[in-house]
Amino acid sequence: MIISQAALQAIRLLNEGGYEAYLVGGCVRDDMLGILPHDYDICTAALPEEMQQVFHAFRTVETGLKHGTLTVLVDSEPLEITTYRLDGEYLDKRHPKEVTFTRNLENDLSRRDFTVNAMAFHPDLGLVDLFGGREDCKRKTIRCVGNAATRFTEDALRILRAFRFAARFRFDIEENTARAIFDKQHLLKNISAERIASEMNGLLQAEGAADILRTFREVFFTAMPALQMPDEAWHRALQVLSCCEKKLPLLWSALLHPLGAEQAKTVLQTLKMPNALQEDVYALLAHLHLPLSPEKMQYALMVMGKERIFLLLSLQQALHSAEHSGRETETAARYGMLQQKTEALLASGACYTLSSLAVKGNDLAALGIQGKKIGETLHKLLEKVVLGEAENDREQLLLLVRNMK
Ligand code: ATP
Ligand code: MG
Repeated sequence: MIISQAALQAIRLLNEGGYEAYLVGGCVRDDMLGILPHDYDICTAALPEEMQQVFHAFRTVETGLKHGTLTVLVDSEPLEITTYRLDGEYLDKRHPKEVTFTRNLENDLSRRDFTVNAMAFHPDLGLVDLFGGREDCKRKTIRCVGNAATRFTEDALRILRAFRFAARFRFDIEENTARAIFDKQHLLKNISAERIASEMNGLLQAEGAADILRTFREVFFTAMPALQMPDEAWHRALQVLSCCEKKLPLLWSALLHPLGAEQAKTVLQTLKMPNALQEDVYALLAHLHLPLSPEKMQYALMVMGKERIFLLLSLQQALHSAEHSGRETETAARYGMLQQKTEALLASGACYTLSSLAVKGNDLAALGIQGKKIGETLHKLLEKVVLGEAENDREQLLLLVRNMK
C-alpha cells in the first residue's frame, strides 16, 4: 500500500509509545481499488489523553476529542487519529448515545458500516480484513458489516452512504443489504435534512448515480417526498442526469427538471441547500428552454447573466444529448460553438446589462421621463440592443426614445 510519510510517522510514534495503530477505512479501500486516497485516517488503541501525549510536540486540533478524534498536523498534512470505539445504542437513529473507547481493533472494525470500509492496514503487519472487505472489493460489492437490517436500524444514514459508495465505485449492493434498504427505508424520515443533502450531493456527482437512482427510486421518494414524480418523468430526469457535467447546479436541475422551477426549489429548500444553489437551479429551470443560437446569445446573456449562461448552455446540451442519443458529437459541436460565441461577446465588452447601456436614467430624466417609466424605458432600450435592433450608441438610443414618446 502507498502510504504518505506523515501517516507512516504518526503510526510509528504511536507504536513507539506502546499503542497499536492502523490505517483504516476509506484510505485502505481506495488503495485496494487503485485510487490514490484523499486522506489517511488512523485508528489506535491509545486513549485521547494518550494520543495528546504522543503528539505533544505537534500542532493538533481537538474539536473531535470527546468522540476520540484528534487531528494532528504532520508536515502540514492533517491526519485524523481516532481511538478504537464501540458505538453505543443509537438514540435518534443517527447519533450514538455514548462513545465507548476500547483497546480492541476488532470491536472498532465491527462498528463500521460496510465490509469495504472496515479494513485496517499496518505498514509492517499488513492487512486486517475480518469481514471479507478485500473479496467484496474484487466482487465490486457493497455489503453491510453484520446484519444489514440491524445496521440500518442503528443508523439509517448508512442507506444513503451505501448508495453513494455504490455509485462512486460502480459497485452492486449485495442482495441482503439491498433487501434491508427497502425494508428499513422509512427510517430515513429520522435523518436530518442536512445529512440527506450532503449524501445526495455526493451521490449525484458519482459516475453511477443514475443506475442507483433508478434501482432505488422509491427509497429516494421516501427520503425526499417532494421529489416524487411519475415513472416516465423520473426516467427522463435520469437520462439527462447521465449526460450532465458534474456540477451541482446542473445535476440538481437535471434531476428536478420534470417538476418545474417552483417545485424544484421546494425540494432544495426542504433539504436546506445553500441559497446560491437554490437560486441557480430556479433560474436554470425557469429558462430551461430559452432559445440559444448565435444571434440570440446576447439576449440570453441579458436574461441569465454571465455565469448562469454557461450553466444553461451545459444543461441544454445535456437535454439535447439525452433526446438525441448517438449524436453526441454533433451536439457537442453545436454547444461548443455557442459557448465560444458567448465568450467572444463577453471579451468584446458587448452590452447585456443596464450598467453597460450607453444611455442612463438621468439622460431620460432630462427628456422629461419620470418615475417608473425611466426603468421601463431603459429595459426596452437594452432589449433592443441585445436583440440587435439598435446600436448601443447614446445619440441613436436617445433618438429612439424621442420617437417612442
Ligand atoms: P470518503 O472517501 O467518502 O471520505 P470514507 O470511507 O473515508 O470515504 P467517511 O465518511 O470519511 O468515509 O468515514 C470514514 C470511515 O468511518 C468509513 O470508512 C467507515 O469505516 C466509518 N463510518 C463513517 N460513517 C459511518 C456510519 N454512519 N456508520 C458506520 N461507519 C461509518
Ligand atoms: Mg473519509
